[in-house]
Amino acid sequence: MSAPLVTRMRGFGTTIFAEMSALALATGSINLGQGFPDTDGPEDLLADAITAIRSGHNQYPPGLGILELREAVSDHHLRCYSLAYDPDSEVLVTAGATEALTAAILALIDSEDEVVVFEPYYDSYAAAIALAGGRRRVVTLRREHGDQGSTWGFDPDELRAAVTNRTRAVLLNTPHNPTGKVFSAAELRVIAELALQHALWVIADEVYEHLVFDGRRHVPIATLPGMRERTVMIGSAGKSFSVTGWKIGWLAAPPELTTAVRTVKQFLTYVNGAPFQPAIARALAAQPPHYDAARMRLQAQRDRLCAGLSDLGFDVIRPEGTYFATVDLHRDGLEFCRNLPTTAGVVAI
Ligand code: PMP
Repeated sequence: MSAPLVTRMRGFGTTIFAEMSALALATGSINLGQGFPDTDGPEDLLADAITAIRSGHNQYPPGLGILELREAVSDHHLRCYSLAYDPDSEVLVTAGATEALTAAILALIDSEDEVVVFEPYYDSYAAAIALAGGRRRVVTLRREHGDQGSTWGFDPDELRAAVTNRTRAVLLNTPHNPTGKVFSAAELRVIAELALQHALWVIADEVYEHLVFDGRRHVPIATLPGMRERTVMIGSAGKSFSVTGWKIGWLAAPPELTTAVRTVKQFLTYVNGAPFQPAIARALAAQPPHYDAARMRLQAQRDRLCAGLSDLGFDVIRPEGTYFATVDLHRDGLEFCRNLPTTAGVVAI
């Protein structure tokens, strides 16, 4: 009997994260391989969720998400990026950014349509494109040496060559998992120019928007001229407030795009996280914002980890944001990582 899995999902069996996390457990190693915080979210956020449970926020919330949270997302985008989104027609609350991404891809990508993605990428992208019956066109991020040391970049010609008459969307993740790259203004302009020229949607995964270091500022691609109209901008409370298990995400996009994504989303989960939604709404509105603390803590950890790795002789590519740091091993990374738990008691990917 053949294995019970549809053809389009073959090859998505077990992720490297599952393999390496199992290895961490088996060897009692420190697991640096999976991207989640080792601290809980802020005390008042946790208390607000408990209060919400006790005060009756336990049934299905509205399909779009509660108004208070949609308003908080809208206010946040206005305050941080001067982008105005109508909370009723242009904001949608989702089961984490993962659902926003999957619903957006299923809503905008028909079978045989192409999606441009920058590689390496967060592993749900390929699976969601496969579920839609779409095709991936990959542009590789490569190590570049600049005045400020090593970074990751892409060749604009490689990007242009990846776009065909079947391309419908570009999936952009900045700040980027797993390189820690923050796409520069010039790089965003190249992507925007192509999107405008070929009438492409941009699905912008910005879950690490507040985890950017060294005084940098995150620039949403929707702020570039002409781009708000064609961008689905995706965020996540999990990353900004260190509560990855709550799975509260959102998207902001023009009404037609929001309606398209909502049409799919309602049949994936319909809704989720009733008591978490009011708590996240308050956290998003808080001044000073909670994510400043998370950013400062992560930046200090980045400095410590990168300095330690450099001292050990590793060739570190210093991340500009996110939970991640990369090293160039100049040898087989998979074999190195499989041995690391026994040689050092540490799991990496
Ligand atoms: N996008 C990226 C780039 C991520 O790293 C993650 C989580 N690792 C997600 C999306 C998923 O976010 P959520 O937990 O809100 O679904």
